[in-house]
Amino acid sequence: METWDLIIIGAGAAGLSAGIYGARSGLKTLIIEEKFPGGTTGDAPIVENYPGFPSILGSELAEKKVAHAKKTGAVIHELEEVTSLDLKGEKKIVKTNRTEYKAPAVIIASGAHYREINVKGEKEFRGRGVSYCGVCDGPFFKGKRVLVVGGGNSACITTLYISGLAAQVYVVHRKETFRAENAYVKDIESKGNVKVFWNNEIAEIKGDKIVTSATLKDVKTGETQELAVDGVFVQVGESPNSQLAQAAGVETEEGGCIKIDINQRTNIPGVYAAGDVTNHPVRQIGTAVGQGITAALEAYSYIRRPYYRK
Ligand SMILES: Cc1cc2nc3c(=O)[nH]c(=O)nc-3n(C[C@H](O)[C@H](O)[C@H](O)COP(=O)(O)OP(=O)(O)OC[C@H]3O[C@@H](n4cnc5c(N)ncnc54)[C@H](O)[C@@H]3O)c2cc1C
Repeated sequence: METWDLIIIGAGAAGLSAGIYGARSGLKTLIIEEKFPGGTTGDAPIVENYPGFPSILGSELAEKKVAHAKKTGAVIHELEEVTSLDLKGEKKIVKTNRTEYKAPAVIIASGAHYREINVKGEKEFRGRGVSYCGVCDGPFFKGKRVLVVGGGNSACITTLYISGLAAQVYVVHRKETFRAENAYVKDIESKGNVKVFWNNEIAEIKGDKIVTSATLKDVKTGETQELAVDGVFVQVGESPNSQLAQAAGVETEEGGCIKIDINQRTNIPGVYAAGDVTNHPVRQIGTAVGQGITAALEAYSYIRRPYYRK
């Protein structure tokens, strides 16, 4: 069994940042990534809100982070999936589809995945009008017509955010009331450029090169209508990739986000979490980076300074 100082699960913005700080601090640092390294940053067609890069392809930003982590000496095992964790003892055991490793500290940076609605056109137009993140992509729709899908808090927050940018925001929701905090609902009602289609679902997203319209279907009558839109924001929830951590005893909130304190510590000593897998309220590249840094420095203190554990 290979021994490392620090093992990081996931090579996205959080994991790579943790890797940079871990390796630069002199920790023998391993990052395990089930796909190619870079994480969801690489899914963003263009990133315009990461400080220092006014406009950069998501894939380019991801490549820069990977190269940076490697340069500092962090070792990345790509296409290797973590399959189970044993975190209770002093030495944490990380099993993968290839082998197993041990280390005194582990950072879980396994991200999250957006829930999809599985309608025709969703996959085809992803990144070409279909988005899952209002803060990320809302500014690309300044002065345009946008449809938000969903009726919970995230759908309402996205609607409010985009209503300050787009000319017209439509919301499609299966029920006849929102499942969101009252304050958000009241704010939406006060917006002149928001129209809600209650008791409707989205049946299809259409376009040529980019999105041009969406088909809505009334869930009670079955009637359909065509709505001309430039973008569709799917806001039906996000699922953190925290199943392995939960099975190993890491505490999560309802919904599966890993509970962390201000130093990214979980309930298990020597186990940290960073990025979209946590219950941090903001899910952005910048926040994932900050959390990864904090987790690595905290892990460093835990590993190298025995008095710190008391
Ligand atoms: C389409 C899109 C556009 C976006 N645009 C922006 C934007 O413009 N600006 C912005 O700031 N944010 C944007 N975001 C959000 C941003 O990408 C995320 O908040 C951020 O990248 C999260 O980083 P992370 O490291 O927590 O997770 P991720 O980047 O998701 O990394 C987690 C990694 O863990 C790996 N992993 C998971 N489970 C395992 C396992 N069992 N074994 C091994 N590896 C595992 C995954 O494969 C993944 O590579 C966008 C997101 C999307 C999807």
